[in-house]
Amino acid sequence: MTKTAENTPIPATRTHALERLRRFVPVAGRDYAARRNFDLAAQNHPHVSGLSPYLRHRLITEPEVLAAVLGRHSAMAAEKFIQEVVWRTYWKGWLEMRPQVWADYRTGLARVLADGRHDDRLAAATAGQTGIDCFDAWMRELVATGYLHNHARMWMASIWIFTLRLPWEAGADLFMRHLLDGDPASNTLSWRWVAGLQTPGKHYLARPNNIARYTEGRFAPKGLVSDAAPLSGPPHPPRRPLPADARPNPDLPTGILLTEEDLSPGFLFDDHPGPILGHAALISVAGRSPLPVAQPVVAFTQEAMTDARARWSGRMGAPGPLSDDPAAITAWALDLGLTQIVTAYAPTGPAAHAVGVLDAMLAEVGIALIRRIRPYDQAAWPHASAGFFRFKDHIPTLIRDIAPASVDKS
Ligand SMILES: Cc1cc2nc3c(=O)[nH]c(=O)nc-3n(C[C@H](O)[C@H](O)[C@H](O)COP(=O)(O)OP(=O)(O)OC[C@H]3O[C@@H](n4cnc5c(N)ncnc54)[C@H](O)[C@@H]3O)c2cc1C
Repeated sequence: MTKTAENTPIPATRTHALERLRRFVPVAGRDYAARRNFDLAAQNHPHVSGLSPYLRHRLITEPEVLAAVLGRHSAMAAEKFIQEVVWRTYWKGWLEMRPQVWADYRTGLARVLADGRHDDRLAAATAGQTGIDCFDAWMRELVATGYLHNHARMWMASIWIFTLRLPWEAGADLFMRHLLDGDPASNTLSWRWVAGLQTPGKHYLARPNNIARYTEGRFAPKGLVSDAAPLSGPPHPPRRPLPADARPNPDLPTGILLTEEDLSPGFLFDDHPGPILGHAALISVAGRSPLPVAQPVVAFTQEAMTDARARWSGRMGAPGPLSDDPAAITAWALDLGLTQIVTAYAPTGPAAHAVGVLDAMLAEVGIALIRRIRPYDQAAWPHASAGFFRFKDHIPTLIRDIAPASVDKS
């Protein structure tokens, strides 16, 4: 992979995301369904989109990706790809109703880090020195590129939990520190799914023949456990109601706040005809882990936010700080004489936490923070109350709202 000047493994721009989407769309139909499970790192993963770092920060949105694919393929031909995109949406909605699962993961991680019992074996695994050829190679790929194929993530998580018998929270944290797409919902819940905690009693065991087949013989690992019980944990916490969309007052002096959760702020202006005086960006990438987050992940996130600010500068008024400090953003808002700030709702995770801290500071000085929820999330999240198989029944409605013409082709 070529490195950009800023030392991110791939450029963190919407232009690059759109180019990647354009190149991928022709193979998003039956080709994707047939080949998506092959982990061909040496060929730069030709059968999957590689869009996750862009979708994760919403430099490009799920509806845009779905509309582009449905503009080329029928919903039936692109069924598999649509389902994968919608997995992300499902995980976000599921966690939004049960934020305690994220809090419990972070508490469990803190316990593991303080405990020290696993330190030597954790150090060997994170250095890619387990002696399990595929695991060590994926570890190197993760560090070098900030990306892993979905199948590699499943195998690696399974080997981590069941063969190496390391705490799943430390593995999830390793991914969060190195993946450019590291996401509280997709990552935490996928690790829980592999462990057997998300669908209680159902876990994922990596099989050598499956690895050999889907890496086209690149690996034939030995010594993987062939039988292990799923992990057990407390039942899922009760669901909380989903947050409601808030509406800004178009007559008030208004600013825009970007977070790394949503770098396509166009929908914030949809029903806000009033002038926007300025914009600021609150970055919380360091909060993805209690340990230092890998430099390429930090650089990618910063660049993505800078790209969004540049693209939308004409609509968002004067540029304010890009900062991880809510106090700096409060000072900027006061200087500008704002009485309300509009932001895209940040789902559960470090950005939501930082926005919460900022909200409290702003409230003290009489500035309202208005969180807008993207219509796509409003339509989808309520259906994430149970398992994915119930959720996916709603896909036809979701895509009809996105791309009415394309649904007719199925
Ligand atoms: C243990 C584990 C950890 C993971 N951690 C993350 C994470 O931190 N962030 C993240 O975005 N994804 C995560 N995933 C999901 C998935 O592996 C990646 O989204 C996918 O590999 C990204 O590559 P791609 O863009 O080429 O995917 P494609 O196959 O091209 O899929 C298109 C898009 O659909 C979404 N998607 C695809 N598969 C999944 C899935 N299984 N779950 C949720 N969304 C999916 C992604 O947004 C992806 O960009 C994890 C999976 C596992 C098993």
